[in-house]
Amino acid sequence: MAYGLQDVVNQRRMIDESPAAEEFKQVLRGKLDALLALAEATDCRRVRLLAYFGEKSRPCGNCDNCLQPPAVWDGTEAARMLLSTIYRVHQASGITFGAGHLMDILRGKATEKVAQFGHDKLSTFGIGAAFSEQQLRGVLRQLIATEAVAVDASAYNTLQLTAGSRAVLKGEQQVRLRESVSAPAGRRRTRSSGGSKAPSAAAANLTADGQQRFTALKAWRAEIAREHNLPAYVIFHDATLAAIAALAPQSLRDLEGVSGIGAAKLDKYGPAVLDVLRAMD
Ligand SMILES: [Zn+2]
Repeated sequence: MAYGLQDVVNQRRMIDESPAAEEFKQVLRGKLDALLALAEATDCRRVRLLAYFGEKSRPCGNCDNCLQPPAVWDGTEAARMLLSTIYRVHQASGITFGAGHLMDILRGKATEKVAQFGHDKLSTFGIGAAFSEQQLRGVLRQLIATEAVAVDASAYNTLQLTAGSRAVLKGEQQVRLRESVSAPAGRRRTRSSGGSKAPSAAAANLTADGQQRFTALKAWRAEIAREHNLPAYVIFHDATLAAIAALAPQSLRDLEGVSGIGAAKLDKYGPAVLDVLRAMD
C-alpha cells in the first residue's frame, strides 16, 4: 500500500470537517488509525488484525511480515527531534508551522522562512541533518497516524503537539518504521539490517570465516548506530559490510575502493573496522 504524508493529513481533515456527529467521527478516526497501523506494521499482520478485535495471538508464520521480516529502522530519535521542534517553534514564535518548515529546521536548511523567524537560533536547528526528508516524512506520518501529532486543518495544516506526544518524548513509545517505506528510493532493501537472526542476502556468498566477520561487523555497526542515534544503513549498507568481510582487509589501504566506503567514511570508521577484524584473530 502506497500513501504519503499528505494522504494521511487529507484523510484526517475529511473526517474532522465532515458534518457527521462527533461520535461517528471518532469511529472513523479509529478505523483510519487501525488501517495505517496495519499498513505500516513491521510485525505479524494477523496478530495486529486480531488485536484490533481484542484477541491476543501469536505470530502466524504465514503473512508477508512473518515470511520475510521487513527491514526496520528505529525512528524514535527522529520523532523526538520533530516533537521538540514543534514545541520550540511555538515557544519562540507563538504560532504553529507546517511539516516542510519543521523538517527544514531539523535538517539545518537556511531558507528564507527560517531566517524570517530566526529559527536557526533554535537548539534543534540542524540536529536532524543525518535524516533524509523522506525519513522524516515517514516518521511524521506515523506520529500523525498514532495521534502523537495533530494537524490543524483550520490553520494551514500546521502541526501541534497532543497528549500522545508525551509518551514518545519520554521514550515510552517507540517509533519503528519500515526501511522500504522510509529509505530514499533506489536504496530499498527487503532484509533486516540489524538484530535479526535471518541470514542477510548480502552475506549469502561468504565463506564460513567471512560470515563470522560479517556478523562481527554488523554487531559493531549496531553499536555505533545506537551511539549516534543513526539508522544502521547510514553507517554502512549490508552489502558494504559483506564486501569488507569477504576482503578481510589488513590496512586502511586495503579498505580503499570498497564500494560504499568514501574518503570520509574511511577516515571516520576505517580504523574501527580494522580493530573489529583484528579482535577476531
Ligand atoms: Zn504473521
